Amino acid sequence: MKRLQVGDVSITSFAERDGPWRRPEDFFLGYQTEAKAADVEMLEPEVFEKSSGRMVITYQTFVVRTPKHVVLVDTCTGEDKGYGPPMDFPKQPWLDGLAAEGLKPEDVDYVFCTHLHIDHCGWNTKLVNGEWVPTFPNAKYIFHKGEYEAWEELAKKGEERMGGAGGVWKMNCEPIVKAGQALLVDADFKLDDTFGLIFTPGHSPGHVCVDIRSGGQRAIVAGDMMHHQLQCIDPTMSTIFCWDPKQAGESRRKVFEDVVDTDTMILPIHFPSPTVGRLSRAEKGYQWKFVRS
Ligand SMILES: [Zn+2]
Repeated sequence: MKRLQVGDVSITSFAERDGPWRRPEDFFLGYQTEAKAADVEMLEPEVFEKSSGRMVITYQTFVVRTPKHVVLVDTCTGEDKGYGPPMDFPKQPWLDGLAAEGLKPEDVDYVFCTHLHIDHCGWNTKLVNGEWVPTFPNAKYIFHKGEYEAWEELAKKGEERMGGAGGVWKMNCEPIVKAGQALLVDADFKLDDTFGLIFTPGHSPGHVCVDIRSGGQRAIVAGDMMHHQLQCIDPTMSTIFCWDPKQAGESRRKVFEDVVDTDTMILPIHFPSPTVGRLSRAEKGYQWKFVRS
């Protein structure tokens, strides 16, 4: 995506992977391909590859520069985690992306995870001499407390769950707390007067979006509150990875109602470039339009 200026805050992103990914019928619960054929026709051209019937899904990290801090929001899948295909992404695109931002790991002040799924906290840590250590030595890592505790509980019970727990928590989250670099916060947390949170549980137990407000402008870094434009047309549609699919739909609807027909920009992690969009009310659900200027 292009650099986005929100008052005094700038937001950019860099990607770990890009391009066509899953088919909606393999990803959304109860998805009926024929019933949704008209919805697919309404999509922005970037988000769907018609020839293969697959959604275009990007994995990216946002760089939020407030007047006081450099913050990374969500850290993709990471390196050396031992995941099998298709989650064994090469590490270089992400590392090159960080460098292209003019950033070294030590320059990052805060790392924030919207939630603790496999593709949102991977680069939190790196493997050094067989141990997981924080990738960003000077950063505080902000986790929603309830989110952290839910995955901790599952991991300690030895339970695997799609998208998280098990090795994900042990590799990417616990070492941060052990290193003394974690801030476990509630949803009313504010990093500074430009950077707050919106509690959007459902996709995961304590999912939060980032609420950026500055100079009378507003942008929401949305994590996995939404994965694809199809969910604007039908916000009740949740994914096979959702913790509580019904609650995920309710959280989505609440945010959509808050921002519909306003200038608020939304940045969903998995939307391909130009990534940033706005919502307006439509005959069927909500109309998503990319900001292209
Ligand atoms: Zn995700």
